[in-house]
Amino acid sequence: MKQSKKLGQCFLKDKNFVKKAIKSADITENDIVLEVGLGEGALTKELAKLAKFVYVIELDMRLEPFANQIMSEFKNVKVIWNDALKVDLKELGFNKIVANLPYQISSPITFKFLENDFDVAVLMYQYEFAKRMIGKPDTDEYSRLSVSIQYNSDVEFICKVPPTAFSPKPDVNSAIVKLTKREPLFHIENEEFFRNVLNAIFQHRNRTVKRALIDSSHEMNIERERLKEILENIKLDFDFSERVFKLAPEKIGELSNILYLNIISKK
Ligand code: SAM
Repeated sequence: MKQSKKLGQCFLKDKNFVKKAIKSADITENDIVLEVGLGEGALTKELAKLAKFVYVIELDMRLEPFANQIMSEFKNVKVIWNDALKVDLKELGFNKIVANLPYQISSPITFKFLENDFDVAVLMYQYEFAKRMIGKPDTDEYSRLSVSIQYNSDVEFICKVPPTAFSPKPDVNSAIVKLTKREPLFHIENEEFFRNVLNAIFQHRNRTVKRALIDSSHEMNIERERLKEILENIKLDFDFSERVFKLAPEKIGELSNILYLNIISKK
């Protein structure tokens, strides 16, 4: 079978990284695990040996021979043939996620995971993406992704994974990351508005918060002149002269709430 680049089909060959991922997830016989991307089943088989049940979502039906072989050996594996972005994950009832993700869906699938309840997710990403997930304020990696993820999960960088661990070898380095879901770090008045504020300010991460907000007012569905007026009226409540990349996640939460309450109250 010719592996598809478009589907991110770089299969994990180095058993040390399979072991590392499984160990980080601390799989026990009570765990129901979700995996995205069967490939040839390198992770699936090891998960099936330890977990109560493993659901694997795979898009490419050419991999059916691998699925059949695994399901005949392990009765606790079910392969769901679908696009992982289209599956209703809430119906599956898993508590852990372990996956060597197809990198082209890293961002939407991670946000989809975070909308669900789970204890721990151990996931393989492109190295640069992983660095942005763990990014801290005042670093080059600090981004919209860092804040959105750290808002309701702890992120731990497990290890860097070289291209030689896969076949075929990808052009980039990879990394294993562990996410532990927890209660949000701070209160948000309106999550959709918070996401809009993140989109707005991180488009101009080196500018001051004021400048970034005004230049991206459309992201928050506010007319530019009206936003200027609102910022002028609330300038004592927040330091709008700070640079976006220096704002800690909870400060961005505070900014979002102040803006939201002011905009709503003046509607
Ligand atoms: N788990 C295997 C391993 O570690 O060797 C395969 C990992 S490979 C990086 C990613 C897998 O995800 C491929 O088998 C690919 O066909 C599958 N895939 C790609 N896009 C997908 C999608 N949208 N939904 C489900 N599976 C997808």
